Amino acid sequence: MPRKRNGEFAGNKAYLPSKPCAVCGRTMTWRRAWAKTWDEVRYCSERCRRNKHAATTPETSRDV
Ligand SMILES: [Zn+2]
Repeated sequence: MPRKRNGEFAGNKAYLPSKPCAVCGRTMTWRRAWAKTWDEVRYCSERCRRNKHAATTPETSRDV
């Protein structure tokens, strides 16, 4: 049985990178669409991207 190099993605679907969404904290699993931008992806969805301010300043719109 040939050995694969460590770190090589050899068709094993068991391993996919994941990280928490910066807004909702939901675990995002790597998607092929994010292959080139994975390091920049911070939000699980467009909705969270738009709500990114809500994560840092929750309910501070009273003084407006
Ligand atoms: Zn999210």
